[in-house]
Amino acid sequence: MSESEARPTNFIRQIIDADLASGKHTSVHTRFPPEPNGYLHIGHAKSICLNFGIAQDYQGQCNLRFDDTNPEKEDIEYVESIKNDVNWLGFEWSGEICYSSNYFDKLYGFAIELINKGLAYVDELSPEQMREYRGTLTEPGKHSPYRDRSVEENLALFDKMKNGEVEEGKMCLRAKIDMASPFMVMRDPVIYRVRFATHHQTGDKWCIYPMYDFTHCISDALEGITHSICTLEFMDNRRLYDWVLDNITIDCQPRQYEFSRLNLEYTVMSKRKLNQLVTDNLVSGWDDPRMPTISGLRRRGFTSASIREFCKRIGVTKQDNTIEMGSLESCIRDDLNENAPRAMAVLDPVKVVIENFDGEAEILNVANHPNKPEMGTREVPFTRELYIEREDFREEANKKYKRLVLGKEVRLRGAYVIKAERIEKDEEGNITTIFCTYDNETLGQNPTDGRKVKGVIHWVSAEAGIPAEIRLYDRLFTVPNPGAADDFVSVINPESLTTKQGVVEPSLADAEAEKAFQFERMGYFCADSKDSSKEKLVFNRTVGLRDTWAKIGD
Ligand code: ATP
Ligand code: MG
Repeated sequence: MSESEARPTNFIRQIIDADLASGKHTSVHTRFPPEPNGYLHIGHAKSICLNFGIAQDYQGQCNLRFDDTNPEKEDIEYVESIKNDVNWLGFEWSGEICYSSNYFDKLYGFAIELINKGLAYVDELSPEQMREYRGTLTEPGKHSPYRDRSVEENLALFDKMKNGEVEEGKMCLRAKIDMASPFMVMRDPVIYRVRFATHHQTGDKWCIYPMYDFTHCISDALEGITHSICTLEFMDNRRLYDWVLDNITIDCQPRQYEFSRLNLEYTVMSKRKLNQLVTDNLVSGWDDPRMPTISGLRRRGFTSASIREFCKRIGVTKQDNTIEMGSLESCIRDDLNENAPRAMAVLDPVKVVIENFDGEAEILNVANHPNKPEMGTREVPFTRELYIEREDFREEANKKYKRLVLGKEVRLRGAYVIKAERIEKDEEGNITTIFCTYDNETLGQNPTDGRKVKGVIHWVSAEAGIPAEIRLYDRLFTVPNPGAADDFVSVINPESLTTKQGVVEPSLADAEAEKAFQFERMGYFCADSKDSSKEKLVFNRTVGLRDTWAKIGD
């Protein structure tokens, strides 16, 4: 990571500064705790940059911990993708990867401790009854008739649960706290339930699984986490977090701090919804370039530096907010404008024949970046037959149109000035060929007789260019907050992917996947990591040259 990525500041870092200054802590230990039930998305990146970024800047540690207490929804594929994405974002976890499931034995022991202290009981209310007994925000709950069981009875029943002698949903272990608490999470929360599911880490060893609230705080304490950072929806859960740690024998007291989650316009961030997009084949996979996932953004051509920069720009606060897509895009645009080599590609080709050009191709040397000579040059063949963009030619046009017009001149980028002499059309009136002449005195200089040529257009040699499929992406949804729609699938943008059959300059034959180029005048594009091959090039548009989102509503 470069030195220029200056250290951010935010309220969590201020808390840490104070804890270090007061001597409450001498070092900082954070963790990033994803549940392996989906791929990471840009919201997770915010949490990753916060947790790993703090560890980096304070010479502390950050664990990667899989919060894997829900075997039915989890999968090893997600574990692998998450490790990969964290590394790709530029972060290293300290020590071994952690799994909450590593602590199942210890968690079980702590549950027994709570039972022994009269602070947990085995309940037999059905899930519906339990809901009914829980009360509402305005009414206190009722005690379960099983609440006052003896310690012995509770131990015996919990043992039966553990030994597979109890059906799913028939019994669960609940913490005995306060059925009248204004915090619903404190109304005797379930801490263990029966699930006959094979776990991706522990196999069939367990048929009881601890709940998130019980597991998370204990995992934090066992790992010596100092600052347990999570999103605001866990604010009330902090009571339970502290209650559990206060009532078991453990000599570490991590503190939970909440920040607001990232919401982005025109996309969804719920893993359940993202999963549905994938399983219902509404996108091509978790790494579809239209997805807000790390792997999707990467495949689309986003750099990890641009995502880190985005996380820095949005900051960390407690205010709920929704960020405009343009703000993410401006981060990648700033990066690529600076760092992406230039190349030429024609997305919607029409043929140009240079009638006064004879013989072999002429190899031109073209700069890879207009302001960075250190990025070198590349060879671009200029030939008698070329392609230009169909929209870059008109039979007639006013002065504002700075491209090729019949009878007028235009410059070809990095090459010569050409003049359109005549055209040929097919039976439907579509232009098939534009016949031109070129002025061979104009390579890298203006016409010597003072003729002014204002426009510059891009082009590709028809003989040497390579056909390529070019995928243009638009926002995945038609409304800014698809998550709020009754049916988010109904607001998917049917035009979120448009495919073009274009032609690219020959130097792009070996374009490395995911490494973006600026296709002159067209935007930033990278070769697709899954579908592009020597036999068939496929490019993804990462982002356009300018902010087109800002136009919405004009
Ligand atoms: P779900 O979508 O199923 O509710 P989740 O978003 O809570 O899941 P986790 O895997 O539990 O997903 O998240 C891991 C960490 O990333 C948590 O600490 C969570 O707070 C954080 N996180 C998740 N989504 C966002 C977001 N949109 N913005 C910031 N942090 C997030
Ligand atoms: Mg979660």
